Amino acid sequence: MSRTTTGPRRSRRAPSFRCLNCKLDVSTDAPGTAHRNHCPTCLWSRHVDDKPGDRSAECGARMEPIAITTRYDGEWSVIHRCTRCQELHTNRIAGDDNALVLFTLAIKPLARPPFPLDHLARL
Ligand SMILES: [Zn+2]
Ligand SMILES: [Zn+2]
Repeated sequence: MSRTTTGPRRSRRAPSFRCLNCKLDVSTDAPGTAHRNHCPTCLWSRHVDDKPGDRSAECGARMEPIAITTRYDGEWSVIHRCTRCQELHTNRIAGDDNALVLFTLAIKPLARPPFPLDHLARL
């Protein structure tokens, strides 16, 4: 398996990071969250935390957005799965996350039902 190059590590906390998926330079300031943990354009993340914001994970691989979940108060979160170690993380969405990509992720199971839709009419 080929390792992803991570580039030189900065000693101070960087004000921005480069998305490993779409290569966008992303500011760590995000409306509505204390720390941004995923790209607002493609929603991909990186496995750098064991707990949110602790930066203690050694994996560093890309994390794919695989699903949307909602909290009791209706707030949306993205489920990320690490492409190397398969760990799952739940991350709150930010105010400037791409709405179209969020919706595409949310309706994915409905767009690809595991049975023909006309079966529903017979229930
Ligand atoms: Zn991205
Ligand atoms: Zn990982």
